[in-house]
Amino acid sequence: MNGQVAIVTGASRGIGRGVCLSLAQRGATVVAAARTEAALQDLVEEARRRELPGRIDARPLDVTQREAIAPFVDGVLEAHGRTDILVNNAGITRDGLFLNMEDDQFDDVLTANLRSVFWLTRAVSRAMLQARYGRIINISSIAGVMGNAGQVNYAASKAGLIGMTKSIAKELGKRKITCNAVAPGFITTDMTDVLPEKLREEVKKVIPLGRFGTVEEVAETVAFLAGPGAGYITGQVLVVDGGLRM
Ligand code: NAD
Repeated sequence: MNGQVAIVTGASRGIGRGVCLSLAQRGATVVAAARTEAALQDLVEEARRRELPGRIDARPLDVTQREAIAPFVDGVLEAHGRTDILVNNAGITRDGLFLNMEDDQFDDVLTANLRSVFWLTRAVSRAMLQARYGRIINISSIAGVMGNAGQVNYAASKAGLIGMTKSIAKELGKRKITCNAVAPGFITTDMTDVLPEKLREEVKKVIPLGRFGTVEEVAETVAFLAGPGAGYITGQVLVVDGGLRM
């Protein structure tokens, strides 16, 4: 990925941080975006400590701020002249039972997880169209494939991402842009650390591999889809769940 430029949202921790390191490991220049630049310091230091061949360019972006998207993309293009890879990773949960769910709870999750991806991908794909090359990877979830009690908002947003992924793949394929989704199952991050221990143990019992996945296992899947080996894969949902959905 030497000479390629990747944008990764929600890069400060968890899967986003792991994806940045995997892409930088392969030589890409990684524009790591998070709500604050300060939150990215740890990632920048980790990449330096590991002496990764790629560079991390830390930039602030709150993906829910629609008006911030165009200046962000302009800034990236000004600094690097291109965007080859876009990883839409930023996401939130606001869990609650369907019948008690407030409008705000639903809207906030849809905006952070789905509308934001529409805004950023539309802006970034303009440069990809001109270059006639692009790799777009959306981080969906097994919840978007299977549904999940207590996550009507989150599951709707992640299922929406799958529909968006396939539609973009169909629209932009002729211009040599691929668009795929990665649907992680239970991965050890801050997002799943909040689950009660009892639930975590019950979940592990129904996962064929018997454990939660790691950030690196998702990041390597994303890096594969972003890399040269995945040139003929588009519109797919790659499930990384230890066999849970099977
Ligand atoms: P996480 O909570 O550790 O990371 C989420 C990241 O998104 C954080 O860096 C956070 O700051 C960022 N973010 C949230 N709102 C943002 C905003 N408005 N603007 C910019 N950044 C924002 O969780 P994670 O597990 O690393 O999640 C990463 C992605 O993977 C999410 O889309 C999540 O839905 C998805 N996912 C995670 C799991 C899991 O088990 N951990 C499973 C399936 C899908």
